[in-house]
Amino acid sequence: IEKKKAVNKEYFEIMKEAQIFFRENIEKYDEALEYMKERDFSLDEINKFGIGFASSSRDELFRYLLKKDFPEQKIMELGLVKRNENGEIYDSFRNRIIFPIYNADAQIVGFGGRIIEKNTNLPKYLNSPDSPIFKKGNELFGIKYRGENIRKKGFAMLMEGYLDVLTAQKNGFENAVASLGTAFTEEQGELLKRYTDKVLISYDNDEAGKNAIVKAGYILKKYDFDVKCLVMDGSEKDPDEFLRKNGKRAFIEVVKKSEEIFDFLTKEVSKDLDLNNINGEKKFIERLKPFFSNITNNLSKNLYLQRLSVNFGINDFVLEESLKNISGETSQRKKR
Ligand code: ATP
Ligand code: MN
Ligand code: MN
Ligand code: MN
Repeated sequence: IEKKKAVNKEYFEIMKEAQIFFRENIEKYDEALEYMKERDFSLDEINKFGIGFASSSRDELFRYLLKKDFPEQKIMELGLVKRNENGEIYDSFRNRIIFPIYNADAQIVGFGGRIIEKNTNLPKYLNSPDSPIFKKGNELFGIKYRGENIRKKGFAMLMEGYLDVLTAQKNGFENAVASLGTAFTEEQGELLKRYTDKVLISYDNDEAGKNAIVKAGYILKKYDFDVKCLVMDGSEKDPDEFLRKNGKRAFIEVVKKSEEIFDFLTKEVSKDLDLNNINGEKKFIERLKPFFSNITNNLSKNLYLQRLSVNFGINDFVLEESLKNISGETSQRKKR
């Protein structure tokens, strides 16, 4: 273990140096500052979050890191540079705003890069690949200081993107975190559970976001979180857009109106069903099975069954038969 620590130390040092490079860079490029200004970030806020810039230069970062005597091999393993067919090494992040990804011990483990060009076929975001110090599914963007921010607020706000989290944090919602462009994982659930047992899912206001709420909800229930989700009625695409357009007071109102995950879920899965029809009812109960099989807490399970019975007028006995005893394989496995 000691040896592994020593090896990892250099990876962390490389990431730290890379961030210094990106940070110093951003003030040199008007187009980068201009872009961040459009997203309502002041220079102070840019510095506070350690936001940087990778220019379109071919290998400036690579040369900078070599000059600091870091080994080529490790720089490559961190995904900061790549080798082309001709064997030439070039920087992976180019022409992108750079967001540092901190782990819970405030060490930089990766970067997210947003393209600033408007008309391009390049992917909007590029993230560091997995590396010896980074596994995407194990980290949450925004955690940084051992979840102190979350503990203080008493709950976490789970969002989709970098800019959702940063805009939320600078507006006083310091408990915002994001899973990094992937679906929310069990490991992330376990990580969050160290700091809180309440999560407000604040995903994007679109079809993809809604499907993702359902899936994140299942995982969070496995870890027995109290789960709510944000309901943005308007046309705003995501928390970032909502906050910039309507301000924090309006956002607080939306947070107050947030919905219990079960109510969201039942609405979501019954959208296309006629619940006055036996077939519709059957499908409805069928679709709720994954939710119930993920609940590890028996009291919660019973309370949800009761709620289902009251709200939808489905007989207790029927529900008990079909939903109560599905103990998901996971509910045994995951109890630790
Ligand atoms: P923006 O507001 O900058 O347009 P966003 O954060 O709202 O971006 P979404 O398209 O809603 O972006 O995506 C949410 C998150 O998913 C992003 O912040 C990013 O982490 C991840 N993501 C989006 N597009 C990609 C991509 N092409 N490759 C990898 N990750 C991506
Ligand atoms: Mn989206
Ligand atoms: Mn957005
Ligand atoms: Mn979005």
